[in-house]
Amino acid sequence: MLKKWTTVLLLLACLFLVGCSTSTEQETISPDELMPEQSESVNQDSGQYVGSVNSDKYHLPDCRWAGKIKPENEVWFDTKEEAEEQGYIPCKTCKP
Ligand SMILES: [Zn+2]
Repeated sequence: MLKKWTTVLLLLACLFLVGCSTSTEQETISPDELMPEQSESVNQDSGQYVGSVNSDKYHLPDCRWAGKIKPENEVWFDTKEEAEEQGYIPCKTCKP
């Protein structure tokens, strides 16, 4: 018998809480909080040098070897120092 009443009370409490939370949510929803529409993957092609995750060489972007790197394996660097810091060595073909 007690259990039944506890369940009813819990149910009422739940309904009360849900009612409260939805009413406060409606007040705080702001339609301005949409995803900012910025261009995707800006960083991908913005380096001076490109290397591959599968090799230890870095290239000038117009090197014929750079062209063989799959886009998903490309690693871009802004400077030679940045590339060498990450363990890459200059390609002997394009001599970056
Ligand atoms: Zn190269």
